[in-house]
Amino acid sequence: MARLDTREKLSILADAAKYDASCASSGSSKRDSRGGTGVGSTEGMGICHAYAPDGRCISLLKILLTNSCIFDCHYCINRKSSNVRRARFTVEEVVQLTLNFYKRNYIEGLFLSSGIIKSSNYTMEQMVEVARQLRDVHDFRGYIHLKTIPDADPELVHQAGLYADRVSINVELPTRQGLTRLAPEKDEKRIETAMRNTKSDIADNKDARKKYRSAPRYAPGGQSTQMIVGADDANDGAIVTKARSLYDRFSLRRVYYSAFSPIPEPSAVLPLKRPPLMREHRLYQSDWLMRFYGFKPQEVVAATDEKGMLPLDIDPKLAWALKFRESFPVDVNRATKEELLRVPGLGTKAVGRILSSRRFRTLRLDDVARLTVSVKKVRPFIITSDWRPTLLTDRADLKALIAPPAAQLDLFAHHGPKAA
Ligand code: SF4
Repeated sequence: MARLDTREKLSILADAAKYDASCASSGSSKRDSRGGTGVGSTEGMGICHAYAPDGRCISLLKILLTNSCIFDCHYCINRKSSNVRRARFTVEEVVQLTLNFYKRNYIEGLFLSSGIIKSSNYTMEQMVEVARQLRDVHDFRGYIHLKTIPDADPELVHQAGLYADRVSINVELPTRQGLTRLAPEKDEKRIETAMRNTKSDIADNKDARKKYRSAPRYAPGGQSTQMIVGADDANDGAIVTKARSLYDRFSLRRVYYSAFSPIPEPSAVLPLKRPPLMREHRLYQSDWLMRFYGFKPQEVVAATDEKGMLPLDIDPKLAWALKFRESFPVDVNRATKEELLRVPGLGTKAVGRILSSRRFRTLRLDDVARLTVSVKKVRPFIITSDWRPTLLTDRADLKALIAPPAAQLDLFAHHGPKAA
């Protein structure tokens, strides 16, 4: 490996980290940090914006310890057989970079991932050491997100949670077959065992802190994972079902969906094109439907087409409503919270405000219009004191009447997930 100075390494290793969505990057318009103007630029030199577990938007230094790797995952630009420029930080370099950026207020924390150097254990040791030095030697109080390596010794993975606010373990692909084909050195069972251990470490720590307030915190931001979308042939139905199962079995805080990005000199087993970014967005919306709107995975699956794919031109909540029109119209003055949450165009905030306002007065269409971005979208699905949609939900052209114009679709491609 050629000798590089820290700035050159930062350029390479921040750029290599851009493919990892699981620090909840809030969707900078391009996933390329090389063109940035350096520290302080939101798109330069590895500084990304992310949502902390408490919902705050924070800036993180997002880097790899190294982009060298002894594994050969087909979809990964850093795989062993890839012809990319390699670099590697020392533990001390990452610690100093983080401290320097933090002291200058460029960042509020660190997101650290890595290719596998020598062995999974060796790599995990180095990553834990970065976090340990930051916390124990430098009393670093900023946010730390560590990507952990499922093959590493469970004790090392455990240690990651002692220093990090959040840990994550990538499931990588939605199906076992996809993982075997595209990441032959990875194993679903080992990945899930590591997630199960982390779940139980977090639960044990919560119990300990109930008894002893002085017990050290363990990964207080919980654990998350990432799935690559569009590198294999798993459809949206399979992805949504897998995500729900991961949330339920491992108490994940978040599942992140990352649209597969074609890489230079791709392996022949990969698709040539990236999936539409809108697909990633629709998956985030369906994720929100399950987490905040009471949808079961089978209901989201019911909104997919005959190939198991969510429509790209309308959001999954509207797709579900158009398929299950017999569930509407919903009377905003009488319906339960669960029924109101099903109405396309009504978000959780709007539903909350409907529920509190109707305690004092009967709601009219204008009242609902003030709570929503598009009353046109809501109107066919609700009844108010002065509005009843006469056979509107029976119209064959209902979708055309309320769907956003196709030209507007790109506007939503990079936005954060919203389900309403
Ligand atoms: S182990 Fe990680 S860095 Fe290495 S090839 Fe696979 S995805 Fe890439």
